Amino acid sequence: MPKVSKKLRVARGVQHRLSQWQHDLIRQGVTRKAQEPDMAIKSVNPRYTSQHCSKCGLRGMRNRHQFECPHYGHQNHADKNAAINIRNRYIVLRSASTGSSAKRDRTTGSLRQ
Ligand SMILES: [Zn+2]
Repeated sequence: MPKVSKKLRVARGVQHRLSQWQHDLIRQGVTRKAQEPDMAIKSVNPRYTSQHCSKCGLRGMRNRHQFECPHYGHQNHADKNAAINIRNRYIVLRSASTGSSAKRDRTTGSLRQ
């Protein structure tokens, strides 16, 4: 009887589609939850959020789960750094719609009040 490998190898395209499927499921769940009163959804473009430093806004280096900013030496867990960047983008989006004073610094990309 042939040995069955426990690891399943799939093509990159299939991996990407599976990942998108998971994201779609999460998005649907959040959208469904937001149907409750007083809840709203703001969509934030996640592009480059894992590549830019959440403190200075400059491009950093990611090594597996570790993010490091080569410009100022900031270090953080890569997912946490990306999550902070998404939060910062949301704050900018929200302030643009409400007229608050939080703005993004054009030179560094970091958030200033
Ligand atoms: Zn930095």
